[in-house]
Amino acid sequence: MKVLVINCGSSSLKYRLIETDTKTVICKGLCERIGIGGGHFKYEVTGSDKGFEKDVEFPDHNTAVDTLIKAVTDPDSGVVGDVSEIGAVGHRIVHGGDKFTEAAYITPEVMSVIEECSDLAPLHNPANIQGIKSCRKVMPDTAMVGVFDTAFHQTLPEEAYLYGIPYEYYEKYGIRKFGFHGMSHEYVSKETAAIMGKDIKDVKTIICHLGNGASITAVDGGRSVDTSMGYTPLDGIIMGTRCGSLDPEIVHALVEKTGKGLDEVMRILNFDSGVYGLSDYKSSDMRDIRDAYKAGDKAAIRAFDTYIYVIVKYIGAYMAVLGGADAITFTAGIGENSSSVRKHICDRLKGLGVVLDDGANENGHGARLISAESSKVRVYTIPTDEEMSIALSTVEVLDRMNKG
Ligand code: ADP
Repeated sequence: MKVLVINCGSSSLKYRLIETDTKTVICKGLCERIGIGGGHFKYEVTGSDKGFEKDVEFPDHNTAVDTLIKAVTDPDSGVVGDVSEIGAVGHRIVHGGDKFTEAAYITPEVMSVIEECSDLAPLHNPANIQGIKSCRKVMPDTAMVGVFDTAFHQTLPEEAYLYGIPYEYYEKYGIRKFGFHGMSHEYVSKETAAIMGKDIKDVKTIICHLGNGASITAVDGGRSVDTSMGYTPLDGIIMGTRCGSLDPEIVHALVEKTGKGLDEVMRILNFDSGVYGLSDYKSSDMRDIRDAYKAGDKAAIRAFDTYIYVIVKYIGAYMAVLGGADAITFTAGIGENSSSVRKHICDRLKGLGVVLDDGANENGHGARLISAESSKVRVYTIPTDEEMSIALSTVEVLDRMNKG
C-alpha cells in the first residue's frame, strides 16, 4: 500500500510517500515557513530527477497539503495518477497521553481525544491536529491513522512511570512518565531482533536513540519497560541543548540566583543547556564537540565526558532493570554516525561484559554488529526510520480493522 506520512509542525510540514509492500520511499519533501511568509517547497523523487524545489507562499497548512498533493499527482512531476492511489495517511502525533497504547484510526471521537492531549504537548499536538484537518480537506475519502510518540511506552509498569510525588497529582493531573521517540524505539528494537535472527519476544535490548533530542529505552520482549524521557522530553540524558534529569531544587535555585523568571529558566534548560551549555555555548552539534575535543578544548572535553557518563549510567541502570541485556543498539544522528561516542560508551561498560569490535565500529555503514565475539552483550548500530515506522503502523491498523 502507498502510505503518505505527514509530520506536521507549527510552521513546517514534512512528508514522505512510502510503498509499504517493498518498504521503499517513493518521494519525500518539506513545506517550510507555513503562515510566516517566505515559504519554500521541496519535493524529491527516489531514483528520478522529476523532483524540484520552489519558493511558494503557504498562508496556512491547507495550502501546504494542497501543494504537495499537486506535486505528487502532477502529470509531469507526479508519482501517482490520482490521489485515490494513496491508500492511507499516517500522521505523526507527539502526545497520546495515556489514552493511546497503539496507533489509532482517526474518527471524530479519536480527534477529540487527541485534542484533549494537547495540554500535555502544547507546542506539538495542535500542529499535528492541524495536519490531520488539512489532509481531510484535500483528501476527504482517504483513511487517516494517528501514530503516537508516546504509545510504545504505555507498557511501562506503574513502578517505572510514577514519580515520587503525592499520588493524588498523578490521579488529578496525570503527572507521570510518558516517554517519547516511541516510533524510533519500536522500529529499532524490532530491527535489532531481526538482525539477531531472533523472535522479538525472546530478546532484551537497550535502545540508545542519540540525536539532538535523545532517549534510552529498555525493551523486554518487544515491550518498553523503562525509558529516560519523562513527563516531557526534557528529562533523561544530557542532549544537544536540553539539560536532562536534574534535582528539581535547581530550578528554584536558578530563579533565585539569576533573578530570571521561571519561564526564562525553563527556556534555558530546554535551549541553552545540555552539550551546548556545558561546552560554554560552543556548539550543540556532536561533530563540533568532537573536533574541539580532539584539539584539546577543555570546555568540549567537559561536555563530551559528562554526556558519555550520563549515558553509561542509564545503560547500567537498564541492564539492572532488564536483569541483563542481550543487545545494546545505537541509533539516530549521533548513535548511527559517531563511532567515537559509541566507543567511549562501550569502553566504560567493559565491566558489564561489553566488548566492542573496533574495526566494525569504525568502518562500515548501515545496520551492523559492532561488538566482538567475546562480548557478553551484542552491540549494534541500526539506522532509525521513524517515517517507515509510521507507515508500517498505519498499515497494521488498517489490516486489524479489515480482519476485525
Ligand atoms: P534530531 O532528529 O533529534 O534533530 P538527529 O537524529 O538528526 O537529531 O541527530 C542530529 C545530530 O547528529 C547532530 O546534532 C549531530 O550532533 C549528530 N551527528 C550527525 N552526524 C554525525 C557524525 N558524523 N558524527 C557525530 N555526530 C553526528
